[in-house]
Parts: sequence; C-alpha cells; structure tokens
Amino acid sequence: MTLSGVATKLAPGNKPFDGTLPFIDLKAQYALIEKNVQKRMAQVLEHGNYIMGPEVADLEKKLCAYTGAKHTVSCSSGTDAVWLPLLALGVRPGDAVFVPSFTFTATAEAVALCGASPVFVDVHQDTFNMCPESLERAITQVKKHSTLTPRAIITVDLFGLPADYASIASIAAAHELKLIADAAQSFGGSIQGRKVGSLAPVTATSFFPAKPLGCYGDGGAIFLDDDEMNETLCSIRIHGRGLGGKYDNVRIGTNARLDTLQAAILLEKLVLFPKELEDRQKVAALYSKELACVADVPEVPETYQSAWAQYTLKNPKREHVIAVLKDCGIPLQVYYPKPLHLQTPYKDFPLDPKGLKNTEALSRAVFSLPMHPYLQPVVQHYIITRIKEALS
Ligand SMILES: *Cc1c(COP(=O)(O)O)cnc(C)c1O
Repeated sequence: MTLSGVATKLAPGNKPFDGTLPFIDLKAQYALIEKNVQKRMAQVLEHGNYIMGPEVADLEKKLCAYTGAKHTVSCSSGTDAVWLPLLALGVRPGDAVFVPSFTFTATAEAVALCGASPVFVDVHQDTFNMCPESLERAITQVKKHSTLTPRAIITVDLFGLPADYASIASIAAAHELKLIADAAQSFGGSIQGRKVGSLAPVTATSFFPAKPLGCYGDGGAIFLDDDEMNETLCSIRIHGRGLGGKYDNVRIGTNARLDTLQAAILLEKLVLFPKELEDRQKVAALYSKELACVADVPEVPETYQSAWAQYTLKNPKREHVIAVLKDCGIPLQVYYPKPLHLQTPYKDFPLDPKGLKNTEALSRAVFSLPMHPYLQPVVQHYIITRIKEALS
C-alpha cells in the first residue's frame, strides 16, 4: 500500500494528511478526552487554586495507588524529580554519583547541578540499561584512584524498560550507596508485577508530553516509601519551607511545584493510561514479530514489562534506513546520537576504566520507530513493510 492509501484509511476526523506520519500521536489521544479535560480545566479556573490546588493532592494519592509507593511528591519536571532527591540526600561537591552515559542529559545534569561529579557507566547492549559489571568497575576505580566520595547510583529505565534493579540494588547495598531510579521514560513499566515507582527506594518520573504519561506542559513526580525523606522533598519543593508557615525556611530549597492545571490534566489522562499501556504492548509485539528477521529487536527480560516509551532497533545501516523511510513519510528518531561522556560539558568527568564500548556502539546504531497507543494496524504494517525493504 502507498502512503496516500494509508492516509485515506486513517480514521475519519483526522486532520488533512501532511505527508508525514506522527512519531507520537497526541492529537488522537486528545480527541478521546477533550470534553473531560476541558471540564477539569474549567473547574480549576473556577476554584482558582492554581498553586497546590486540590487536584495536586488528588493526583498524588492516585499515583500512590497506581505505583504502590507510599508517597508521591509531584513536581515541576522530570529533571527536578531527579535533582530534588539528590538535594534531599545532601549530595554535594566532592561526591560521586554513578550514572549511565547512554541517557537523556538530565540524568547527569542533576548531579552536576549539586556540584557533585557524575561518573559514567556503560549499558548492556541488549537492554540499553546500566551494566552491573561496568558499575562495579567504576565504583572500584573511584574508590581507589580518586578523592571523590561515592554517594549514589542513578539508574535509568531507558525507552521504558525497567533497569536490572535486583543486581544494582545489591551493588548499592554492598558499597553503601543510595539508589535513585530515573524512570522518566518508564512510568507504567513493571518487574514481576511490581510497578515502576516501587522498584527502587526513590523513583523519579517525568510528565513531559511525549513520555508514556504526559501532561500538557512540564511536570514530574517522585515516588518513595521513606517518611522522613518525603517530608524533606515536600519542603525542598517549596523553598525549604518548615512547619511554621510560609515564611519559615528550614533549608535551602527551590520552586519545583506541579501546576494545579497540569495535575487536573494528568488525572484525566491517568484514567486512559492502563488501556494505553496495553495498546503500546500490542504495537511493540507486532513490530517485534515482524521485524525480528531483519533487525535486532528490543529484548525484554522475562517478568519485565516495558512502558514502551520508545521502540528502538539497532542496525549499522541506520542512516540509510532513516533516509529511505523519510521519503516514505515515516519519521524515525535517534535516541541518543552522542553519549553524555562525549559531550562538551561532561567530557572531563570519570568513567568506567574499561571505557563505554556498548554505549558508543549503540549511539551509532540505534533508531526509534513511531510508537504510541493510537498507531493503527494498517499504518503499522505500512511502516513494517518499508523498514523490511530498507533493511533487506
Ligand atoms: C525526559 C527525561 C528526563 C527529564 O524530564 P523532563 O520532564 O523533560 O525534565 C530525565 N531523564 C530521562 C531519562 C528522560 O528521558
């Protein structure tokens, strides 16, 4: 089938087809929830509690129920969700925090913003997630050959797949390091039925519009069980506020609140989310079934469930595939073309002494396909056919 043939089969009501399929179709989602979102937004405009209004507390309660975490601290972005726990732990100059290099900038940025040193760790070539052996080497290196104090590990659930928490938590315990999960891409994922948000002592997620659960602006949340850290995070989120009211400041904090309007939108999107997760799973399953013969399809370990923020293939002919598919109106994206340890602001920080071979190889081979819950089978088959042609 041709692209215009596909376009005419797209559900009626879609905007005139502009020649390129959406990489993530937020408009199809909005069409389903438009009335309810507008109703919820109108309620906020009427009650006028724009900052920390009732929707924020309601959302936090519902996110606890969904993730199984005791506490949810909503905040203004995924970046803040990674940064605030580091502030709460007192991470400071002279500290080392171990992070993967194959991730979005914010993971390492949060560490550097505390004045601490990110230490870059390699990833596993099949899961794209932090490699426990590389982590061990990096910790040993820092302990033996630097003046830095190892303080914490930030794992990343890349493309929606939870990291190897069992292995990494035991390394963290053995070296007395704090463990923070950067789950900006994996809200909804799980291991053995345990949801992201309850897989690590502290979990950060993002509600950036393109993430599995996105709002209509910036937003994020931190999930945790610890009562004391919960109080600290709630205080840091509002300028280090103490119990004595608005102008009682007990620590240095920041302004990192989630807008009431965004909470209202997320409450509506959360209703849709379980079904969306199932549909993402179906899209991923069809891609893997059809493409396994021409490409390395993503590996999901047994008992793991990905949130499928991205569906990512590896192939050394990447640039060719991207060019061919572009001509067919199919957008592909590369996450991430340049690892963090090779980027200017991060190039002088320490790394695994054996180097980051998988990270560097992946950055040259990965590409992500259109992935969202509203990808119709006819469109997906069109994409699959064009990819098979480009790769054979
Ligand atoms: C998106 C993302 C973040 C940052 O989230 P924002 O809400 O955009 O600040 C952090 N870490 C990872 C791995 C991400 O993908």
